[in-house]
Order: sequence, then C-alpha cells, then structure tokens
Amino acid sequence: MIRFEHVTKRYADGTTAVDDLSFEVAKGELITLVGPSGCGKTTTMKMVNRLIDPTDGRILLDGEDIADADPVELRRHIGYVIQQVGLFPHKTILDNTATVPHLLGRPRKAARARAAELLDLVGLDPSVYGDRYPDQLSGGQRQRVGVARALAADPPVLLMDEPFGAVDPVVREHLQNEFLRLQSTLHKTVLFVTHDIEEAVRLGDRIAVYGAGRIEQLDTPATVLGAP
Ligand code: ADP
Ligand code: ADP
Repeated sequence: MIRFEHVTKRYADGTTAVDDLSFEVAKGELITLVGPSGCGKTTTMKMVNRLIDPTDGRILLDGEDIADADPVELRRHIGYVIQQVGLFPHKTILDNTATVPHLLGRPRKAARARAAELLDLVGLDPSVYGDRYPDQLSGGQRQRVGVARALAADPPVLLMDEPFGAVDPVVREHLQNEFLRLQSTLHKTVLFVTHDIEEAVRLGDRIAVYGAGRIEQLDTPATVLGAP
C-alpha cells in the first residue's frame, strides 16, 4: 500500500539523507525502522506525508504517486506521532483530541464524543483526564493523547517517529503493549521509527535495518535476530 521506488533525498546543503530506497509496506503491516541517528529514518517518514519531497524517485500510496496529491488531503489519511507531541497548552485533553474531528466537519458535541472514545482507546479514562490540561499529564500520558489525536481522522496510515522514546522504560513497555493491542484491532499500515532494537523486535511485523541512507536488511524480527 506504500511503495518507495528508487527514492533519494538530498538536502540543500548536499547531504544525501536517503539514497535510492525501494521497499513496500503492505496494507495493515507495521514496519519498524531501526538504526543509528542520522541514517535517514525521519527523512523517510517525512516524505510520506510530504513534509519534504524526494529529490529523485517516487512514493506511491495505494498505487497513486503522492507527488500528485494535495498535501492537506494526503495528511488526512496519514496520522503522525512524534517524540514530543505538541498539544495545545490552553486546551483540555478532550478538546485537544476533538479538534481534528471538528475540523473534519463533525459538530462540536459529536467531535467531543468521538474524542472521548479515542482517549478510552489509548487507555486514558476521559472522565478522569478529559478536563485536564497537557501540563497536568505525565509524559507517557501526553504521548497517549498524541496517539489518540493521530487516530482522530481515522487514517489508514500511521507514521510514528520515536513516539515512546522520551518516557522511562517501564512506561515505554506499557505504551508498547497498549499500542500492540490497538494495532491488533485497527490494522493500520504503520512506519515506526525507533533506535531501540528491542522495541523494533516487539512491535514490527518486519524490521527495516538502516545504515547511512539505505535499508541494509528488511525482514521479520526472527530473521533479523538470526534465529534458526
Ligand atoms: P535519522 O532519523 O535516522 O536520525 P534523519 O533523516 O533525521 O536521520 O537525517 C539523515 C541525514 O540528513 C543526517 O545526516 C542529517 O544530519 C541530515 N539532515 C536531516 N535534515 C536535514 C536538513 N533539513 N538539512 C540538511 N541535512 C539534514
Ligand atoms: P509517567 O511515569 O507515566 O510519566 P508520572 O510519574 O509523570 O507518570 O505521573 C504519575 C501521575 O501523576 C499521573 O497519573 C499523572 O496524571 C499525574 N501527574 C503528573 N504531573 C502532574 C501535574 N503537573 N498535575 C497533576 N497531575 C500530574
């Protein structure tokens, strides 16, 4: 469903961040992108929702070249979660989550009802947390809100860039488990960046092992780990 064809990205200063990348993410598949800092993982992700465009090659979403898509329309189909999610500080958790459904045309009341469902889905009881403000949540809880908000437009594709990277290991494991549970029912097509190989193994249907702008190996966790 997402297909990279000979994709290269060179930044203005001459850095080649991604070099002739070709691979495919199947519908409902979760691929973890793992590798050292600076090897092109984030660049790969940003090209999918057209925060940046490739220098060469093309990316197809359901067979359509995304270069032909309206970026705003495209991003309705692609949820994006980053390491430090930016929540609106002066809006409650419920309103932070309801903004997208409301922008997509749901009346305010229906948007808030949908937001409450989404918060529940990511393990935040809306009756407890809905009226709080972002600075009244822990880091792990804010990341959950980020996931709920990314799901708000019901996108078939999720881009997750170290979404659990900034929380302590115990909370991270919790978030990973919740995300796996969520994914087992939602079957999103997911690209998930991490530099934690354990996380890559736990979450990925397949793992893309990056090195300097290229995918060096793309295989199941068992094969990447070298299991017999
Ligand atoms: P990763 O996500 O694996 O850490 P990135 O995709 O962020 O890697 O970066 C890949 C390479 O591109 C790095 O060498 C980085 O310094 C460079 N890079 C990233 N963004 C820019 C930019 N806007 N301008 C120039 N170089 C950049
Ligand atoms: P985590 O380990 O998930 O990061 P924390 O130790 O930061 O959790 O927070 C534990 C609990 O304290 C959470 O239920 C969170 O909602 C609550 N909490 C954290 N910061 C605040 C705050 N500034 N005001 C009110 N409650 C808070």
